[in-house]
Amino acid sequence: MTIIKGRTGEWEMVIGLEVHAQITSHSKLFSGASTTFGADPNHQVSLVDAAFPGMLPVINKQCVVQAVKTGFGLNAHINLESVFDRKNYFYPDLPAGYQISQYQKPIVGKGYLDIDLPDGTSKRIGITRLHLEQDAGKSLHDQSPKDTYVDLNRAGVALMEIVSEPEMTGPEEAAAYVKKLRAILQYIGSCDGNMEEGSMRADVNLSVRRKGEKKLGTRCEIKNVNSIRFIMAAIEYEAQRQIEIVEAGGTIAQETRLWDTTKHETRALRSKEEAHDYRYFPDPDLLPLRLDAAWVEDLRRALPELPDAKKERLMQQYGLKAYDATTLVADQAAADFFEAVAKGRDGKLAANWVTVELFGALNKLGREISHSPISATQLSELVGLIEDNTISGRIAKDVFEVMLETGQNPAAIVQEKGWQQMTDMGAIDAAIDAILAQHADKVAEYKSGKDKLFGFFVGQVMKATGGKANPAALNDLLKKKLS
Ligand code: ADP
Ligand code: MG
Repeated sequence: MTIIKGRTGEWEMVIGLEVHAQITSHSKLFSGASTTFGADPNHQVSLVDAAFPGMLPVINKQCVVQAVKTGFGLNAHINLESVFDRKNYFYPDLPAGYQISQYQKPIVGKGYLDIDLPDGTSKRIGITRLHLEQDAGKSLHDQSPKDTYVDLNRAGVALMEIVSEPEMTGPEEAAAYVKKLRAILQYIGSCDGNMEEGSMRADVNLSVRRKGEKKLGTRCEIKNVNSIRFIMAAIEYEAQRQIEIVEAGGTIAQETRLWDTTKHETRALRSKEEAHDYRYFPDPDLLPLRLDAAWVEDLRRALPELPDAKKERLMQQYGLKAYDATTLVADQAAADFFEAVAKGRDGKLAANWVTVELFGALNKLGREISHSPISATQLSELVGLIEDNTISGRIAKDVFEVMLETGQNPAAIVQEKGWQQMTDMGAIDAAIDAILAQHADKVAEYKSGKDKLFGFFVGQVMKATGGKANPAALNDLLKKKLS
C-alpha cells in the first residue's frame, strides 16, 4: 500500500479501473465491416456503422465467444441472459446518436484476478463486471486548421469494458493489474493488448482518505489513459492533487478529468453535475442475448493455459523461482521461447540465459522477443554446451556476443574460435605447475596463511589457458597441489 505523507497526516488512495479492450475479431460487433488497423479513413464502414435509416444490427458470434472466454479467464460468472441497451448522447463521431452497450444485465458478472507485485507477493482484485459495447468513430482535429474530420473506421468495433472493484491502493498495484489483465487477454486471444494502437485503454477512478479510514472518499475519473507509464503518473499526480485540496479545507468535486501527457497533470473535463443523462433503454432492434449452458461449458473447457497456471507449472516443471516464472509468463511469447530453450536442458540455467542475458540484449536492441536475433534452438544449444562442459559459463557469454552479431550457431563459433574448455587434466596440471613455479614467492606466502592468494593462482592459470580451463577441475587440482 502506498502511504502519502501530507501536511496534516498520512493518506492512502483507492483506485478502481475501467478498462476498454478492443476485441480481436475480423468484423465489428453488429456489422460485417472489417476491423483491420491502419486502413484509410472511412474505408471500413458499413451502412449499419454509419447508422443509415432502416439498418439492423446483427450480433457477431465471435465477439460473444471472446467475451465469454475472457469472463472465464477472470474467474467470473457468465450470465446466460444479457441485454443490449442504447446509451444516448450526441457526438459527431457517433452517427446513430447512441452507442449500443450493456447496462443492467452485462454478459459477465463478478470475478477476480490475482496481481503480482514487485516484492513477490500477490493480491486478489475483484472484477465487478465485463460488458460488450460498440466503440465510437474518431474525430480528427489535426487534418485542417479550421475543420474537424470524422473517421468512422472504428465506429461499431467491439469492445469489452472490464470494471474492477475499488481495491487497488497505489500506482504499482494499478500497473500490476493492467499487466495481468493484458496477459490474460493475450493468452485467451480476445484482445491484442496493444496500448499504443489504442486496443486497450483505461479510465482511472481515484479517491483519497486518511490512513485507516474505512469510508471511501469522493472519486475523480481520469479518462482514456493509454499506457501503463501514464496510468502510474496520473495516479501519483491525482492523489497528490486531491490530498492538497482536502488538507487546505476544500472538498473533492466528483468529476471527469484527463491526463495531459505533455504537462504531466490531470485537468478537469466535466463535472458530475454536467454529466450526461444517457437515458439507457433496451435496444428494440436486439433481442436479449441467450447463451446455451452446454455451449458456454464447451468454451470453458477449450480455454488455453492461463498465466497463473503456467507460472505454477514452470516453477514445478523447471524448478524456477517465483520471480523468474512471473517475468516469463508476463509475455506469452517469452514463456514459449523459454520452454523451447529449456527442452532437455537444466531449467534454471535456461531461465537465467533467457531472463538475464537474452532479455538484457533485447532491451539494448529495443526488440521484442518475437524478433530476437538469437533463436530458441540456438540458445538451447548454447545452454547445452555449458551443461556438457564444452565451454564454461564465462566463455558462453563471449559466444553469446558473437551469436548476437553474426547469427551463427554456438557450436560453430566455439569450433571456429577454438574456445572449447580444456578438460584434459594433464594440460591443466601442466599449466598449474608452470604458474606455481613462476610465483614461488606467492606460493610461500600462501602456505604461511595468506589464503586469499588462491584466487590469484586461479586467475593466472585461467589467463595462461585463455580462460578455457575447466573451473571445477582447476580448483580441485590447485587445492591438491597447494596443500
Ligand atoms: P460509473 O458508472 O459512474 O463510472 P461505477 O460505480 O461503475 O461508476 O464505478 C466505476 C469505477 O469506479 C469502478 O472501477 C469502481 O471500482 C471505481 N470506484 C467507485 N467508487 C470509487 C471511489 N470512491 N474511489 C475510487 N474508485 C471508485
Ligand atoms: Mg465510469
